[in-house]
Amino acid sequence: MRRTLIAGNWKMNGSLAANAPLLDGLRAGAAGACELAVCVPAPYLAQVQASLSGSSIAWGAQDVSEHESGAFTGEVSAAMLKDFACRYVIVGHSERRSYHGESDELVARKAVRALDAGLVPVVCVGETLQEREAGSTDAVVIRQLAPVLSEVGARLRDIVIAYEPVWAIGTGKTATPAMAQQVHELIRATLAKTNADAANAVRVLYGGSMKPDNAKELLAMPDIDGGLIGGASLKAADFLAIAAAA
Ligand code: PEP
Repeated sequence: MRRTLIAGNWKMNGSLAANAPLLDGLRAGAAGACELAVCVPAPYLAQVQASLSGSSIAWGAQDVSEHESGAFTGEVSAAMLKDFACRYVIVGHSERRSYHGESDELVARKAVRALDAGLVPVVCVGETLQEREAGSTDAVVIRQLAPVLSEVGARLRDIVIAYEPVWAIGTGKTATPAMAQQVHELIRATLAKTNADAANAVRVLYGGSMKPDNAKELLAMPDIDGGLIGGASLKAADFLAIAAAA
């Protein structure tokens, strides 16, 4: 009942010239039952919209302002993302939490702002290596989810969650399927305390060095409903191979 979602996070990579063959490759190779999306740097949204319109691939952004509009220099509003027909926006990526000091509460407000505009927020949660080694993975994930759950309320079923252990992002270290499944199960159980039906419907993606050679076993886990893919989303062949493994 949960359609697998394979979403790329290009991060701060790309150029008009480099994006063109990547987008052409994705468009030409997209096939199969799972949903594909790319979350790209904001300046390239027009290019991505032009390239992917009419295809089965969705697109989105990597962050959104908590504010509706106004004097917030450098920020991008949810309405602006809608202007470029975005479907998704990542909120609370660990790089935003750690390099830009984003709090759990701010992430929750961004998720609400995205929902208000008709976007699907991909809410990222996950523990650092230090937190895992201290045995606090579950507590961290529950703490990160708490304000999101209270802020989104009845719209819980309209969000996507990405579990991304920080120690696995861009490091080549992947959580084992069993480790990831354990946290995904915890996330779904936490959602179920608020709304059991929505908990069954919400897609929980895994992110952290997912590649063509480890995607199949991760995606086979019962509570892993897709992937948020960083490095491997920059090569069409790798991204499509991950989707083919779903
Ligand atoms: C990410 O940035 O969300 C991510 C999962 O990156 P990578 O796949 O490169 O670890």
